[in-house]
Amino acid sequence: MINGLSTDDYPLTVTSLVERAERFHPHRPVVSRRPDASIHRTTLGECSRRARQLASALRSLGIGDGDRVATLLWNQSEHLELYFAVPPMGAVIHTLNPRLHAEELGFIVADADDRVIVVDESLLEVFSTFRDAHAFEHVIVVTHDRSAPEGMLAYENLVAGAQPMTWPVLDERRAAAMCYTSGTTGRPKGVVYSHRAVVLHSLVIALPDTLAVSARDVLLPVVPLFHANAWGLPYAAALAGAGLVLPGPRLDAVSVLDLLADERVTVTAGVPTVWMAMLNALDAEPHRWDLSALRGLAVGGAAVPRSMLEGYDRHGLTVLQMWGMTELAPLGTACRLPQALEHSTADEQYDFRSRQGVAVPLMEIRARNDDGALIPWDDTALGELEVRGPWVAAGYHRGRGADNFTSDGWFRTGDIVRIDERGCIRICDRAKDLVKSGGEWISSVDLENHLMAHPSVAQAAVIAVSDERWGERPLAVVALRDGATAEPQDLRRHLERDFARWQVPDRFEFVPAIPCTATGKFKKTQLRETFGDAGR
Ligand code: ADP
Repeated sequence: MINGLSTDDYPLTVTSLVERAERFHPHRPVVSRRPDASIHRTTLGECSRRARQLASALRSLGIGDGDRVATLLWNQSEHLELYFAVPPMGAVIHTLNPRLHAEELGFIVADADDRVIVVDESLLEVFSTFRDAHAFEHVIVVTHDRSAPEGMLAYENLVAGAQPMTWPVLDERRAAAMCYTSGTTGRPKGVVYSHRAVVLHSLVIALPDTLAVSARDVLLPVVPLFHANAWGLPYAAALAGAGLVLPGPRLDAVSVLDLLADERVTVTAGVPTVWMAMLNALDAEPHRWDLSALRGLAVGGAAVPRSMLEGYDRHGLTVLQMWGMTELAPLGTACRLPQALEHSTADEQYDFRSRQGVAVPLMEIRARNDDGALIPWDDTALGELEVRGPWVAAGYHRGRGADNFTSDGWFRTGDIVRIDERGCIRICDRAKDLVKSGGEWISSVDLENHLMAHPSVAQAAVIAVSDERWGERPLAVVALRDGATAEPQDLRRHLERDFARWQVPDRFEFVPAIPCTATGKFKKTQLRETFGDAGR
């Protein structure tokens, strides 16, 4: 022990991950596919070095400790450079989802009080829809050359003109990154990740029974870098020395399969919608792509249908289901087949693999029923899943959503589960009133409130119905006011003013009145029976 500091106090910081990539794995590839489909090749070493320059440039623009740096970027090497530059300099990287509605994005950047924003040139139009909502001090734009539209700074110019920063020593509990999550009602809530959380999460992602990431791997995150740290893949790659393939905005099946084959990707991760489309493409042309390097397909964000597990098995590819949440940085559970089931029947194995999995190391789980009692792990009792662990958020930015946290330090997930004696969870229902379409949330309550603001609508209730392509889609059940008329296209147009087009229901069902419970809430169970999957 020197000066009272034991080695136990050595801080766990993102800086150590980035320095490791730079020092020990400089030649590992970072391949990006640009929006115009051209391929850009660089390395972990080059990205880490440029990150030091980028950090100096940001510092000279006035970005200081704890300041938020927003990104409006695809999966591309510049985004990785920001992942590598912003936390080590002591600032906070705040990733924005370009698919959100302009109004929502405007709220988010103001709520986070982002000081600068880095935008890909292909997203300038999206940026223009919300830029007036907040006074950014600087707008940095990633372009092919060193030019930038008037009033904006060119990313390449900034990097090229800056000296590399010597990383400061940081406290591990300092904020490193930030991401907003949609709420059931009201506004999105900011989740902040500490350096310590990111490091421990990266270590656990890389473990053999999670994604097993090593210096021999090449990872392709289909999951966006703007969503919950891309499930931790970029930092796990830095930690382990894995190569990265960043697919840009084009996530159609053929484009992703081409990259997986051409770049000899070993591990990839994304939501079921993408893998469903890919499976169809593989079924149609089983010999078109050489996927012999691919050993891990991590799927999460929504339930993985058994047919998907079976479908990929037919192509010799193993799907690993994971469950997570933005509030968990995001990994919570993973569903690796245990050794005890290796010789079981195919049916038993698929039953297990269709579950969401077992808590990863350092993550604790429990579930409580409506009376607040802990449920037994008997795979029968139902309860709301609660979690705690070193990368579970302790609260939201500006103290919002306190209801989601228990007084004894657990986070309430809103997922209703059964837990078996092995500790393996199965999500059976959702307590939160949300629809998850293509891996992105749509708030039923927000849609209902907006529908009920239409002059012809007396009541509106929105439910999720399953959809082969998107997982779920919203369906609106509407009761019109006496004597009023409205067609689905009128209601759709009305909603499109406040919602992104993909959030607007495809189906509207008109009823004389919506059934209500004794306390006046819409009886969604009954609506699901009549119009949803339960009624089919
Ligand atoms: P992400 O999409 O990264 O998982 P979100 O915070 O947007 O993070 O969504 C988390 C929610 O998504 C969970 O609470 C759960 O309802 C749902 N979810 C995530 N993974 C799965 C899964 N494997 N199966 C079923 N639902 C899932």
